[in-house]
Formats: sequence, structure tokens, C-alpha cells
Amino acid sequence: MSNNSADLIVHNANIITLDPDIRVAEMIAVKGNLIWAVGNKDDLADFKGPDTKLIDCEGKTIVPGFNDAHCHPIPFAITMRYVDCSPSAAKSIAGIQARLRQYSAEIPPSQWIRAAKYNETQLIDKRHPTRKDLDEAVPDNPTILVHDSGKLCVLNSMALTLLGITKNAPDHSGGYIGRDEKTGDPDGIIYGRNETVEKGIPALDEEELQQGIRLANREYLSHGITSIQDMTWSNSLRHWNYFQKIKESGILTPRVTMFVGSDAVQEFQESALCTGSGDSRLRIGGAKIALDESTGTDRPSQDNLNRHALRAHKAGFQPAFHVNDIYSLQTALAALQFIKQNDTKFPSRVRFEHCAICPPEFIPKLKSFQVIVATQPSFLYYIGETYRRDMTAEQKEWLYPLKSFQNQNVMTAMSSDSPLFSCNPFVGIYTAITRKDISGNFLTPHESISLSDALAAYTLNPAYASFEEKLKGSLTPGKLADLIVLSDNITKIESEGILNTRILVTIINGKVVWEG
Ligand SMILES: [Zn+2]
Repeated sequence: MSNNSADLIVHNANIITLDPDIRVAEMIAVKGNLIWAVGNKDDLADFKGPDTKLIDCEGKTIVPGFNDAHCHPIPFAITMRYVDCSPSAAKSIAGIQARLRQYSAEIPPSQWIRAAKYNETQLIDKRHPTRKDLDEAVPDNPTILVHDSGKLCVLNSMALTLLGITKNAPDHSGGYIGRDEKTGDPDGIIYGRNETVEKGIPALDEEELQQGIRLANREYLSHGITSIQDMTWSNSLRHWNYFQKIKESGILTPRVTMFVGSDAVQEFQESALCTGSGDSRLRIGGAKIALDESTGTDRPSQDNLNRHALRAHKAGFQPAFHVNDIYSLQTALAALQFIKQNDTKFPSRVRFEHCAICPPEFIPKLKSFQVIVATQPSFLYYIGETYRRDMTAEQKEWLYPLKSFQNQNVMTAMSSDSPLFSCNPFVGIYTAITRKDISGNFLTPHESISLSDALAAYTLNPAYASFEEKLKGSLTPGKLADLIVLSDNITKIESEGILNTRILVTIINGKVVWEG
């Protein structure tokens, strides 16, 4: 290979660089794993050598690879091993039954069936399935069907028996067992948390998990995701070591930034690891500050939150607060004030995860602490109906206020929170632009942002939010060669078409890792 020629040139393309100095281009030359040059078609000859691999994009659009700023890859891999009962896969309880039957035909009796993602509001039946419905389909395999909110599940009779959930079983704190009104027998629906269920269902074995990781990897790459930020609150040193193993084996291709649970900060500190440790393939992000260690709820007391946040900050971790309502918004801001009073150095790039609801008076406070909001506007798309039904007119005004954040210079990084919902970045981008839900209804349309700002929120901003803006986020010479070729020119099509945009090629580290 000549020193003066590129390893790869992608050309004849409409390249949206997201680099303010270059903006648009027609070709990208890659050398090793880095972008060497970005230019127009006349520049191609300067970089092409006898061994240069050429990809003619036939005028298609290229953008930087997507960076999912908040997701949960291992739970995603686990759900990939679940029977998909999402609204697109099953439109009725009969449809769910058919999918379960089909799956059970391929496995031995008594093996567990794990199914997920049904949503009763999207089913023709407009109700939750019960043990009876599952028994009709799969009487001989213990079966769990998890709701798409993750907050309830349905068990068949065999599963209830195996777990010992009988008429006399007590309700646990944080949840309750659905029961037949007349007999008091469990109807199969388990609402909220239930330790018997959490502990009683056998985990996937290592081989099943790795199969799930392969499937999750395919999902990420086929959606153009070249970087993921794992925001799982339970991440510990064990998970860090596991990620090293799977990155080494090559079954998970996107770059991973793993945030650590705030309870695990100390063990990382003892191993001399903190935010920024690792390399561009796998690195440590900040600390996810979410849970009350004594109760396990996501509503820590102010003292608890203060202590966790200050400890994480002092141990060299970027704080990332789980902010899912106004209460947690207030307590996270108070914790930042506490850090300010107790340490001379204030943390940079503090993150608020979700921040789905943010009344206007809080936005200047976020600005004053330079908070980055890692948010999921795609939730508006998927559960817009629930928001419209359950929220007051005033609360609806405060949902995902992307434009208000932008007007007041609060940076937003977009993400999927998968497996809660699909990892497809175009759903988030579409919703950020249109403010339309799955049924086509608008929610606070005045909070919509432009396509280029939405793209930045899925590329540049997540890179900044993990201190990696010098490495990725735009197609700039010297940055990592992570880019994707799109089926459509998203700047020219109707916004409705953005939802259906597909990924034709995904390139990571200068290598084609997926072709659609
Ligand atoms: Zn999450």
C-alpha cells in the first residue's frame, strides 16, 4: 500500500459532514481508521492509488455514523432472544398466541419462553393477555411475556407454578399480583416489581447471551449506529470486563462508552479507572446516578443523591443524573449546587438523562450548570397517546422542549433508550422535527427543531457529551472513519419519508461492517 494513497475512498456522494468548516462534500478518503480528506470529485485523483478500494455511492447521501447517547446494550441483547410481540409483529392476542406457538414448536417442552414488547393499547383486543391466553398457546413451556414498558409482565400457569405464585402468594412492595375478582387466583399479570419473578426466571446462558449480542449488533449496524453509550445503572467492574471480552471477540462492532453505576464507583477507583479510561473502541463514560442504594427505587433522597454525586465527581467521574420527572430535576440541580459548595472544581459536561419533562423556569438553571440533556424524543412518537391522555395541558407544554433548550443554549444529545423502544435513530430525528406521534397527532409542535440540528443531536452532541468530540461526530479529516450511506437524501424528502430512510452501508474504523 502506497503511503500517498488512501485505503478507501467513498465518492460520488452527497456528504453532509456536520463540520461547520466543510459542510458539504462529494468524496471522503480514508487512511487506516481515520478520515484523511474530505473534498469534491476533482480531489479524488489526489488520493487514489493502485490498491485503493473505491465505493461509488451513486449520488447517495452520507452522514457521520449515529451515536446513541443513552441505551442499554446487554438488556437489548437479552430482549433480542425474546419472542417479539411488539405491535408491528402481533396486532392481537391471537397474533401473540400464534407467535408463541410457532416458537414453542422449535424448542423442547419445559424450556422457558421469554416474549416481550406487547402493548395492550395497540392490540385490537385493547386488553392485557392473561395466563389463560398464554396457556391456550403454550401450555407445556413456562412462559413470560413482558410489556413494552418493562413495568409489567404476564405469566402462564406453568410459570406461575414454577415460581410458586399461587392464590396465597403475597404482593411485594413496588408491585402487585393481578387476580381473578371472584376466585382470587392469580390471573397471570404481574404489575410492577416482583422479586419472585426477577429472581426465579433463569438467566440466559452465555451462549444464548452471545447470540443475543450478535442480533443486537446487527440491529445497531443496520440502523447506522456506530457508537453506543451504555447507561445501565447496574454497570460494574464485572460488566467492564465482560465488554472487553465481547469487544475482543468482535461480536459487538459499535464503539462502546460504558457509564458505571454510582454504587460501583469505588471499585473502579480502586482499579485506577475513571471517565475517559479505555480507548476509542471501549471506554468508560461517567457515573449514572440514579438509585437509592437502600431501597432500590429511582427516587433517592436528597442526601443520598448529594453523597453519590460528590463521590463520583471526586473519583473522576462525569455525573449523569437519571432525571425522569420534576422532582428528580429539582434534586439533581440541588445535588449540583451541593457539589459546587463542597468542591472547588465543578464537574464539566454534567448530564441529565431523559429530562422528558422540563418546565421553562428550569432551563436557565440547566444552562447555568452547563448541563447536557441526553433525551429521547422518540418517546413522543411511541407513547404520545399516553402523554396526551395522562398529562395536564401545562405538563404537555413541557415535554421534550427541544427548541426551548436550543434557544437557551442547553445542548441536547439524542438517544433511543433501547430496548425500551427501537434503536432506530430516524424515529427520534423524525419526531424531533415533526413532533408527531405514531398516530400522526402533534405534541407541542412549536418545540420542533431543524433536520440539521436533529442530526447534530445524534452525532456531534453525543460525542461532546462523552468527551469524544475530537474523535467523532463529524466527517472531519483526522477523526475516526465512522460513516453511513443513506437510502434517501433526507434534506430533500418530505419529513414523513425520514421515518422510512434505510441504511445502505455502515462503515466503522474505515471498514464496511454492514451493507443493506
Ligand atoms: Zn435508560
